[in-house]
Amino acid sequence: MVHSRVPASQLPHSCKRLKSKWSEFRVYQDLLFKELSDGHLVPVISFKVLIDLEAETYLQNAHLGIGKMTSMLRGLVWHHALTKVIRDLCRTCKECQMCKVSREVVFPPTLRISTSAPFELVAMDLISLPTSSTGYIGCLMIVDHYSKWVTAIPIRNKQTRTICQAIEERVFPSIPRVPVRFLTDNGPKFISHEFSALMERYNIIHIKITPKQTFE
Ligand SMILES: [Zn+2]
Repeated sequence: MVHSRVPASQLPHSCKRLKSKWSEFRVYQDLLFKELSDGHLVPVISFKVLIDLEAETYLQNAHLGIGKMTSMLRGLVWHHALTKVIRDLCRTCKECQMCKVSREVVFPPTLRISTSAPFELVAMDLISLPTSSTGYIGCLMIVDHYSKWVTAIPIRNKQTRTICQAIEERVFPSIPRVPVRFLTDNGPKFISHEFSALMERYNIIHIKITPKQTFE
């Protein structure tokens, strides 16, 4: 049994958690109370009572959340682990975990690229189309990231030479400036020596992305 007038240093080991704030505790009729900041006294309860009380409160009140459970019990009883047990209880309730509607919206991983002027960055890819009567098998597509200007150059094959020629002879003469950066996938035509040489010749930075990367 403890008494409010017992100095904190003489408290038994079982009361060690009360030592640092012993001045906030009161004993009335052999019961221990904690004085709250508003002067209100609440009984200090044992861990076993705390568990029973919280479990009961939780189940009787439609599985309240951490915040509501805390504000409900904090003004009624005191135990140093009150909020910790509430947190554990609310987070581990099997039914709540199973019924929880996640607010998490999953966004695909994207890399944001920003441009501040037309033809600072152009993206390029090839598309296949049914072979035309004149022998075209698809198009070389080029999009300017900033202005969204787009062009499609028909191609008769997907050889690097054809692509480089289309860029040099068809695309470059039709745009106001040589792009600063060129964005392509890792297709063999784009990682070839000939394509790298073209990029180098025009002093263009070549950015290659893997199929799993997405650009906005
Ligand atoms: Zn629950």
